[in-house]
Amino acid sequence: MNSTTFPLADQLAIQLPSPEQPLAIEPSHGYQCWVKRDDLLHPVISGNKWRKLQGALLEAQAKDIEHLVSFGGGYSNHLHALGYCCARLKIKLTALIRGNYHQHPTAMLNDLMQWGTELVYLSKVDYRRRSEPEFIAQLQASYPKAMLIPEGGSQAQALPGLNTLVKELNQQYDYVVAPVASGGTLAGLISALPKQCTVLGIAMLKGEGYLEQQVTQLLATQASQNRAQWQICHQFHHGGYAKCPPLLSEFCVRFRQQYNIPLEPVYSGKCFYAFEQLCQQGFFKANSRILVLHTGGLQGAR
Ligand SMILES: *Cc1c(COP(=O)(O)O)cnc(C)c1O
Repeated sequence: MNSTTFPLADQLAIQLPSPEQPLAIEPSHGYQCWVKRDDLLHPVISGNKWRKLQGALLEAQAKDIEHLVSFGGGYSNHLHALGYCCARLKIKLTALIRGNYHQHPTAMLNDLMQWGTELVYLSKVDYRRRSEPEFIAQLQASYPKAMLIPEGGSQAQALPGLNTLVKELNQQYDYVVAPVASGGTLAGLISALPKQCTVLGIAMLKGEGYLEQQVTQLLATQASQNRAQWQICHQFHHGGYAKCPPLLSEFCVRFRQQYNIPLEPVYSGKCFYAFEQLCQQGFFKANSRILVLHTGGLQGAR
């Protein structure tokens, strides 16, 4: 795929397509594995956040929308990617942050301030209302000209961005493995991949049932002709969202030394840890071709 077909990607200097590199996992069980290096798409804009945000950014440009409002925690890769894109595209961003970091902003929040993002700190109780229709309506009334983007950028218009990822692939896979938190990335992959492929989501948080429901709701927004099979693995969240026991941090260090691929513990570390475990257990069908998506997120580890 040629990047000149994506004016927005050119404007932001996104390096398309991202590399698809072989990964020699041991014992191999005859598996042939590759990594889609979306962590290399851009030095600032986190891989899957670019894939999910391009739809909203294109819509904002097309409709001359000059103000976006979105949500996230103090380390959010979504807000970080969006803040940078908005600064470059000269769109105003208001970021509603979970918790009051006023006295001690994180490195992520310092970047947002430098990029001119307006920061609004919400209490954890208020933040919990972020997807309630009443809360959204109030917010829209306070910012009548703004476009609201949900947490993680996971909404119907995020899914086609994953289609551009799938179109870049050099071969067909039996499995595509990716992390799941708000579900947009997984839903986009499922819609874009054919039914011969199984998309395996690795849950980043304790959310059995809930995550399946999120993904199902997002899938319902898309036409369904030929979509992939899918499943979510729930045994690799390491205690919950952003929990990082020593086993996981040691894995990230070892993996980088072994394969020269950087990982962070919140998303990519858990995903590759799960992938290696599943390979060792012989989880996949013999001789499968497997792609693991490196979703980026390395800024969050600062
Ligand atoms: C946000 C994020 C995810 C989770 O993607 P969802 O679409 O929210 O499920 C995975 N990896 C990284 C690096 C992320 O920043």
